[in-house]
Amino acid sequence: MINVGIIGAGASGMMCASAIKEKVNITIIEKNNKCGKKLLLTGNGRCNYWNKDISIDKYYTNNKEVLKKIINKENQNKTFDFLSNLGIYPKIIVSYYYPYSLEGSSVNDIFLNKIKKHNILYNTNVISIKKEANKFIVITNNGKYLFDKLIIATGSKAYPKTGSNGDGYIFAERFGHTIISVKPSLTALQTSFNLNNIAGVRSDVKLSLYHNNVLIKEERGQIQFTKEYISGICVFNLSNIIVRNNFDNYNIKINFLPDIDNVKSFLIKRKDTIYNMLNTIINTKIINLFLNILKQDKDTLYDNLSIEEKDKLVQMLTNFDLKIIGSQDFNSAQVCSGGISLKEINANTMESKLIDGLYFTGEVLDVDGICGGFNLAFAFITGFLVALDINRH
Ligand SMILES: Cc1cc2nc3c(=O)[nH]c(=O)nc-3n(C[C@H](O)[C@H](O)[C@H](O)COP(=O)(O)OP(=O)(O)OC[C@H]3O[C@@H](n4cnc5c(N)ncnc54)[C@H](O)[C@@H]3O)c2cc1C
Repeated sequence: MINVGIIGAGASGMMCASAIKEKVNITIIEKNNKCGKKLLLTGNGRCNYWNKDISIDKYYTNNKEVLKKIINKENQNKTFDFLSNLGIYPKIIVSYYYPYSLEGSSVNDIFLNKIKKHNILYNTNVISIKKEANKFIVITNNGKYLFDKLIIATGSKAYPKTGSNGDGYIFAERFGHTIISVKPSLTALQTSFNLNNIAGVRSDVKLSLYHNNVLIKEERGQIQFTKEYISGICVFNLSNIIVRNNFDNYNIKINFLPDIDNVKSFLIKRKDTIYNMLNTIINTKIINLFLNILKQDKDTLYDNLSIEEKDKLVQMLTNFDLKIIGSQDFNSAQVCSGGISLKEINANTMESKLIDGLYFTGEVLDVDGICGGFNLAFAFITGFLVALDINRH
C-alpha cells in the first residue's frame, strides 16, 4: 500500500482525501485543531461552493492555457457529480450554488464524515519537506513522517487566521517551483480621494474599470464606502485585475444612476433644487459631497448652475472618477493573486513537472477567481484530479 500525505485539511485537501480510494494509506496533516476553518467562513457561512458558469473568463492566472485544461467541462462535470454523490444538494441562487441547507457547516460535515477513517493529525504544523530515496520526508512540530506521494493543499496567504499563511509557497520554492508574486485579492480598494464624508454609504451602482483611460471591465452591484476603502462584491470583482497588475494607473468610475439612460435630460425636465431633485434617488451624503465639490448649497436651483457646473454634476453622477492606489492587506482579503506557477504543473493530474509524486491543489496555485463560488470550485476540481491520478496507481 502506498503512503500518501496531504498537507492541509481545507477545501481542496478534504476533497482530495474524500475521493482517494481505499487501497491507499492517507495521512492528513492540519495545523489547526479542526478541518475546514476557511470553508466554514465562505459565502457568509453559507458556503457558495460552485457556479453554473465556470469558465476561463472568471479566473486570473499567468497561464490561461493550463488553467483552461484544468477546468474543462469534463473535469467540472466529474467533480460536481462527486460532490453531489457525497450528498451536497444545491440551492441555486442566480448562478451561485450553495448547499440547500444554506449552512456551510453541512458541507464541512459531509467531508469530515468521508475522511474520518483516515489518519488526521491535528495541531500539526509542517515545518519543512524534502525528498530522499523516493520518499518525501515531512518534518512537523510533532515529528517526522515519510510518504510515497505528497499533496500540498496549504492554501494561500489570505485570511491567515484560518491557518493559511503561505507555507506552501516556501515548500514549493525549495523544490524549484516558480512563485508568481502573491498579493491580496478579492479585497477592498484604496483610492486617492478622501472618502471621509461618505463613509458608511452603500449604493447600487455600475462600476467601470479603466486602465490608462481604456475601459477594461464593468460590474453592477452594491458599493460600500468606508473612511479608507471602497468595498463590496462589485469592487472585489475588479480587484483581481488591479492587484495582479500592481495598481498600474487604474481608475474606477462610478455611475450612481445606472438605471437612468439620459441623466442630463432627466435633470432638465425637473425644476427644483439640486438637493430635492436627487434626494429620493441618491444617498444624502453623496448629494452633500457633490454640492461641496460644486461649492453650492442645499437651496441652489439646478437651473441656476452654469453649463459647466451642470456638466460637472452629470459627470459626478454617472462617472465619478476614483484613482486606485492600493488595497487592504492579506488579513481581510478573500483570496490571493499569484502563487505556484501553472507552467510547472501537469494539467491532467496536478502533479509537479519537476518532482515525481508531488502534487498541488487549490489556492496555493497561481489562480484566483471572482466572487460566486469559482475559488471553491477550483479547489474542488484540483483536489479531485489529484485523487483520480492517485487512484490510477
Ligand atoms: C471570508 C472568506 C469567504 C470566502 N467565500 C468564498 C465563497 O463563498 N466561495 C468561494 O468559492 N470561495 C470563497 N472564499 C475562498 C475559498 O475559501 C478558498 O479559495 C478555498 O478555501 C481554498 O481552498 P484550499 O484548500 O486551497 O485552502 P484552505 O481552505 O485555506 O486550506 C488550507 C489548509 O492548510 C492548512 N495549512 C497551511 N499551512 C500548513 C502547514 N504548514 N502545516 C499544516 N497545515 C497547514 C491550513 O490550516 C488550512 O486548513 C472565501 C474566502 C474567505 C477568506
